[in-house]
Amino acid sequence: MQPYILHVAINKPVRHCFDYLWSHTLSTEIPKPGMRVLVPFGKQQMVGVILSIDQTSCFDEKKLKPIIELLDEQPIISEKIFSLYQWASQYYQHPIGEVILGTLPTALRDKKNSTDKTLYYQLTSQGKSFASESLKRSPKQSALITLLTNKSISREAIKNNGFSNTIISTLLEKKLIEKIWIAEETPPLSTLIQAEAPLALSPEQQTAVTAVISAKNFKTFLLQGITGSGKTEVYLHIIDHHLKQGKQALILVPEIGLTPQTIARFQGRFPVHIAAFHSKLSPTERLNSWRRAQNGEAKIIIGTRSAVFTPAKKLGIIILDEEHDASFKQQSGFRYSARDLSILRGQLEKIPVILGTATPSLETLHNAHSDRFELLTLPFRAGNATPPIFRTVDIRGQYLEEGLSSQLLHAMKIHLAEDNQALLFLNRRGYAPVLLCRTCGWSASCHRCDAKFTVHQFPPRLICHHCISSTSIPKQCSHCQSNELINIGIGTEKVEAALKKHFPDIDILRIDRDTIRHKNDMQKILEKIKHGKRQILIGTQMLAKGHHFPNVTLVGILDIDSGFYSTDFRAVESTGQLITQVAGRAGRAEKPGEVYLQTYQPDHPLLNILLEEGYHSFSQHLLMERKNTGWPPFSFLALLRAEATHKEKPLHFLTEAKRAGEKLPHPHIQLLGPIPAPMHKKAGNFRAIFLIQSSQRKTLQAWLNKFIPVVDALPSGKKVRWSLDVDPLEMF
Ligand code: ADP
Ligand code: ZN
Ligand code: ZN
Repeated sequence: MQPYILHVAINKPVRHCFDYLWSHTLSTEIPKPGMRVLVPFGKQQMVGVILSIDQTSCFDEKKLKPIIELLDEQPIISEKIFSLYQWASQYYQHPIGEVILGTLPTALRDKKNSTDKTLYYQLTSQGKSFASESLKRSPKQSALITLLTNKSISREAIKNNGFSNTIISTLLEKKLIEKIWIAEETPPLSTLIQAEAPLALSPEQQTAVTAVISAKNFKTFLLQGITGSGKTEVYLHIIDHHLKQGKQALILVPEIGLTPQTIARFQGRFPVHIAAFHSKLSPTERLNSWRRAQNGEAKIIIGTRSAVFTPAKKLGIIILDEEHDASFKQQSGFRYSARDLSILRGQLEKIPVILGTATPSLETLHNAHSDRFELLTLPFRAGNATPPIFRTVDIRGQYLEEGLSSQLLHAMKIHLAEDNQALLFLNRRGYAPVLLCRTCGWSASCHRCDAKFTVHQFPPRLICHHCISSTSIPKQCSHCQSNELINIGIGTEKVEAALKKHFPDIDILRIDRDTIRHKNDMQKILEKIKHGKRQILIGTQMLAKGHHFPNVTLVGILDIDSGFYSTDFRAVESTGQLITQVAGRAGRAEKPGEVYLQTYQPDHPLLNILLEEGYHSFSQHLLMERKNTGWPPFSFLALLRAEATHKEKPLHFLTEAKRAGEKLPHPHIQLLGPIPAPMHKKAGNFRAIFLIQSSQRKTLQAWLNKFIPVVDALPSGKKVRWSLDVDPLEMF
């Protein structure tokens, strides 16, 4: 009988697939797409996934090697997820092997995890009758035997108890213990979980819930609810409906939103198994959660962007919270949008998808206007809370004390005197963004980037925020040896120091990437904020996202002017979202909130529209502007990036790529650039960009399908690192 040819996806940045042979002598199971195989790859062995099975190969069949082992008895990837992978690989022009293996739990890339059973150890009959005193000289071995008396224990637990591999293998050799494989049982739900009662919905919340639960097929909803309007409560009611039908819910959240509080809120309402995918999981825990989602035991699946690929037995609903958040777009490697893929997944699963936010992206709004999405709005805050009142502080010609205006300081005193909290927002960590020589004008710059060093005081250090370089703070100017070095501008550390002087008796909490290094840190600080009164919080955009601070009544926005003058066409949109989200932290409970926004441009028309008429009106104006300039969502983009340590090579490669592109027929396609990236040098690499634009998504896609293989074959491409970003968010 002729052997089968298996087309296999392998985790390599190569755009073709790999062919291997399979014959009946290799396994009793018949290979199927979606099963994993172990294959020889050069001198290595690699785990791959079968894409399809064929009679013929596009390579010379005589040179094909057989697979080493078929690792699964059943496909581990369902047909729907398979289609999602294939679509994503095609749309983002990214190698299928990296798409699939890069988003599967890492443990599945490991041959060891080929079964869904976990490795346990138990005593052999010899071990049971063994007197552990005879191991007196090796107390660790005897301790492990004692531990295993009357029970089997998983390898992970044994290692967590401080026993090394050597001890395990010594006892194995002595035939005192043996391996057994046990199917991991889902841990029983704590009987302590008492489901909390749902809240009575407002009429607007009820309308939204009814609309979504009446959708019996695929449909995308935009749930646009102002901050604190009770979007989460809407999600909870919808999830409840689907759980009662025996279905699962998939919830995608931005990175920072995935705090234990979020999970606790879901767990508190529903006494069901939740598969939560967060960064603290061990590879085994991740795999177990993934399997529980796949076999339907986990009813709620919650995670960040890559969770969009989590298998589910019977999915009823997909919810993507804070849809405007940039973290849903992967910015390196396989550059996919979890938002767009969640919609595609809904289509494949034939189920509704909800995108929720107070500040929809222009793409999503445009889709809602053109009836591709159904718009649901929550225009009021839930309970008795009212939206905050905005006050613009004109800081032109004013002396600012480390970035703080007298009006803001005065307002802080009043709010703090009433035992409330004030939150100050400054999107720049560190002490000061520039270290300048007063004598000659020299400033400290990173050698690896076209960027200034940021001064940090806690601990004192110059740090480049674009690469990981850092150096000690010089005492003298390296250009003229003057001692007059000064810090220019403000960062969160400097504001914190100034606040300590002004408010010596008040708790001041700084929240930025320097104080929040671990997931636990955020948790601890959030607890402090929740239970504290009279506190000042100073932080970066980490503070803006989704948190509920009932005691914050005053928000101060220190410096957002640059967002209105950036060259990036998306900057104004994201600044407007940020202002609205930060402001939304004020007055979320019974106490009303006030927002002080300091600016040198109090007359800026868009800023005024945002503050006076709100985000909705602001976004309508931006959409008009985008229409006039032809930027997305009124056109579609793909960005070809290249970088190399050699200064000329990236630009040279992109120029060749453009020339090759011009030779292809390209009606309705604009080829823009190439140009050096605005920050030409970053982390020791020179970078350049080349933009491809079209008014039609389909046209762009069809053209990229022809263009990328041509680019892939360019010899100059081997001398640079290049990547394609379809629907880029960052333009540089
Ligand atoms: P969002 O997600 O829109 O920012 P949340 O769902 O977190 O808002 O709700 C904000 C607050 O309002 C929460 O404390 C929540 O318990 C409360 N809330 C939500 N819906 C209702 C309701 N129908 N009645 C009373 N309180 C509500
Ligand atoms: Zn100098
Ligand atoms: Zn740098």
